[in-house]
Amino acid sequence: QRQETINLNAGPSPLPQAALLTAASSLLSYPETPGMGIAEISHRSKAFEGVIHQANADLRQLLEIPDNYKVLWMQGGGLTQFAATVLNLVAWYRIKNQTKPEEEVEAQYVVTGSWSAKAAEEGARMGVKTTKIVDGKKVGGDKFKTIPEASEWQLNASAEKKPAFVYYCDNETVDGVEFQAEGAKAFPFDKIDKDVPVVCDMSSNFLSRPVDVSKYGIIYAGAQKNLGPSGVTLVIIRDDLIVDLDAALPYGGARVPSMLSYKNMAANDSMFNTPPTFTIYVCSLVLRSLLETPPLPLASGARPLSPLSSYADKKSSLIYSLLDAPEGFYLGTADKDVRSRMNVTFRLKGGEALEKKFVAEASEKGIKGVGGHRSVGGIRTSIYNAVTLEQVEQLVEFMKAFQAANS
Ligand code: PMP
Repeated sequence: QRQETINLNAGPSPLPQAALLTAASSLLSYPETPGMGIAEISHRSKAFEGVIHQANADLRQLLEIPDNYKVLWMQGGGLTQFAATVLNLVAWYRIKNQTKPEEEVEAQYVVTGSWSAKAAEEGARMGVKTTKIVDGKKVGGDKFKTIPEASEWQLNASAEKKPAFVYYCDNETVDGVEFQAEGAKAFPFDKIDKDVPVVCDMSSNFLSRPVDVSKYGIIYAGAQKNLGPSGVTLVIIRDDLIVDLDAALPYGGARVPSMLSYKNMAANDSMFNTPPTFTIYVCSLVLRSLLETPPLPLASGARPLSPLSSYADKKSSLIYSLLDAPEGFYLGTADKDVRSRMNVTFRLKGGEALEKKFVAEASEKGIKGVGGHRSVGGIRTSIYNAVTLEQVEQLVEFMKAFQAANS
């Protein structure tokens, strides 16, 4: 057992305790390999093969992943995927369209926050023509706080020259801006040409609600929020987008490191080199716990991630109702219709000094990690799957007491 702490860090972030206890004991000795810990056995062993095999099956069940999608366990975090998605999909596009080597390839980015902005920058570094079809900062008064209606997106793909892909980030961890599951602020798949794959960074709301995977070309997510420790990134990719990168070279482009090739990863069941075995093991325990002990009962006929979705709604709305209180002591930073259920971001009307006091007093009360991202300041409470409703209730009690004492 460990000291009771309300860990609201944005990532790495808390993991289910039962999974951690099992992981701790398996680190010393894994039941299938007595005398050897899970981090001490070969990734080619039967025991580890069993781990990754089960993790794949559990992930497929939870996310209802169709058969024509591959699951890849990759390294290098989300930032590596900013580049890998571009390099692989540009190769796919060049092969498909047999482009002239000198022909420029376009990628379209939906920029709704700090991470999609960074992804667009990396896309440009990879040599594609990046077009921002949405720029949240431009419409948000130099702040990422809104998602414009799809009718305002600059979707100008012509029939003969389409982009290689459209990219977006489902939940902006820094800014607290999330695409909604439905309605006007859901991702407008119907507006995207059906030949253009949609690439989604789901790092910070992965496994928090049901997803229709079949609408995506690629979904990826760094593990270190809802899935496990840092060190592994899940990539879910539609089969037909997986191409031999070298086969694209006659049509232009540069050689790509083998480690970034989805084809290599798929052909080798994510074991093209030594994967982060311990991290994957912990992810497998988290996946099991999500299936075996969902936070709310799974109603009959409901999709496997529905209980987590309801739980996230319940937790986040407790905090948001404080941000909406008429006194305006706490001020939400994101527009109400795009609020994140994972990262609740706000400012204090009293200013930065009061925010500092808030962070310090929260920490004294055992509420950790509530300072906003260093690029934007303010407060951010990250309430991923492993943060319980009871913990959020304690946070809300603290916020009310802090407001009463400082009004
Ligand atoms: N995308 C999102 C939405 C993120 O929250 C983060 C990191 N928190 C990243 C990408 C970058 O991931 P990494 O640090 O694993 O490279």
